[in-house]
Amino acid sequence: MRWAGTAVVILALANATQTAPSIHVEARARSVQPGELVVLTMTTSGEASAVRVRAFDRDLSPYRSGAREWQALVGIDLDASISTHRVSIEADIDGRTERTGYDLAVQPKRFPTRSLQVDEAFVNPPAAVTDRIAREARALAALWAAPSPERLWTGPFIRPVPQSTNSAFGTRSVFNGQPRSPHSGADFLSPAGTPVKAPNSGRIVLARDLYYTGNSVVIDHGLGLFSFFAHLSTIDVHEGDQVRTGDVLGLVGATGRVTGPHLHWTLRASGARVDPLSLLALLGESAER
Ligand SMILES: [Zn+2]
Repeated sequence: MRWAGTAVVILALANATQTAPSIHVEARARSVQPGELVVLTMTTSGEASAVRVRAFDRDLSPYRSGAREWQALVGIDLDASISTHRVSIEADIDGRTERTGYDLAVQPKRFPTRSLQVDEAFVNPPAAVTDRIAREARALAALWAAPSPERLWTGPFIRPVPQSTNSAFGTRSVFNGQPRSPHSGADFLSPAGTPVKAPNSGRIVLARDLYYTGNSVVIDHGLGLFSFFAHLSTIDVHEGDQVRTGDVLGLVGATGRVTGPHLHWTLRASGARVDPLSLLALLGESAER
């Protein structure tokens, strides 16, 4: 199956002259824009004992993908500035540390604005739930800050539901006439009761009702990659469970701040909020790899 508009390009090595011959860097992405995932492949002249990658002021978690090949997932956050961001790369080869870099020239992207009508309690929450909302925000921040240091995903990523999305990723949302934070996920137009499948393996680090996102499930795929599913009617997994690709997490519903049943999937890559469809295009079943 192929999806419209998800062509993956191999980015030209515009900064080839800055690349040390001992580390060859190649990048794959749908585009270099806010909300996109970039897969960096680093091929080293000799076998590297360790590779370190830093981008957007964060240490990423590269993983070995071949005898002399490493990969790193670089997320360009939804709110990343439109400028050139340097990715710095170091590899320990034969007792020496080789260094190079890769320039990501982030291009502007226009996100549409959508106006939605929801229950007023989700736009101006009553004082009684202020503490709950703050507590849940802190709990999520703590999860993103402590990913599994092991790579838990394996093989290609799959769609959690068969239905298509309404391309709402990045939309500037106006709820009941009031601007709120941008929509940081993809909304799949699935009927209530559709089974939600794990897009890949990992550990369930959250499985509970949250104020805004209703019945929510977070999978830690390791190395800073997390899947967050929202608005389920029922949850069929427990915190601490290990899941494999295709395991059912729960059923599509309409809990939390919604206008109707759908599946919301947010992807975090080293803290960056990226479009899950960019992950499927690069590392999904139908990706050209
Ligand atoms: Zn959504």
